[in-house]
Amino acid sequence: MNNKTHLVEGDLNAEDLDLFLSQDLIAVDCEMMGLNVHRDRLCLVQIGDAEHNIRLVKIALGQQEAPRLKMLFEDDSVRKLFHYARTDVAWLKFWLNIKVNNFFCTKIGSKLARTYTDKHSLKEVTKEILSKDISKAQQSSDWGADLLNKNQMNYAANDVYNLIEIYQTLKLMLEREGRMLLAEDAVACVRVMADLDNLGYESVLEH
Ligand code: MN
Repeated sequence: MNNKTHLVEGDLNAEDLDLFLSQDLIAVDCEMMGLNVHRDRLCLVQIGDAEHNIRLVKIALGQQEAPRLKMLFEDDSVRKLFHYARTDVAWLKFWLNIKVNNFFCTKIGSKLARTYTDKHSLKEVTKEILSKDISKAQQSSDWGADLLNKNQMNYAANDVYNLIEIYQTLKLMLEREGRMLLAEDAVACVRVMADLDNLGYESVLEH
């Protein structure tokens, strides 16, 4: 965790909002209590920019809105990067009523670009593209705790630290292979998938 990483309670402050709104690209990740959107609350929203300014926004028990996060995530000009956006987009909508606009999913990008492998986890993608080994040891931990420990904070910051560089590399590969438009179209389906997930529909696109 670098010294440009800060934990904030409930929402971004006004200065952070301006900082992130002035970017072309930001990396975003969320930590939740578990994998069931109706049951498992949103606990933490991590945001990072290209300079590695990182904010860990702690969402309180019972919190139903975060106006500055909403303003940032619904903004059309700042592109939000997620690794497996389907989950984050669903949770942000369900728990904070945020409809994320202008986003990209690096997992979809990886699947369409790196067709020579079936390894598309953040860990595997980071390893190949940036030659960095990241730990996923805190993936399953109590993100609802009143005080997050150092390991959790490091882990949370790490999940957004590399995403902009990864996106830029994937984008070059996708453009080179003529698949960037396909990737954008695939990502556009994610919001619909997330809405269907939140409404409890399963596999409506399947036979
Ligand atoms: Mn994460």
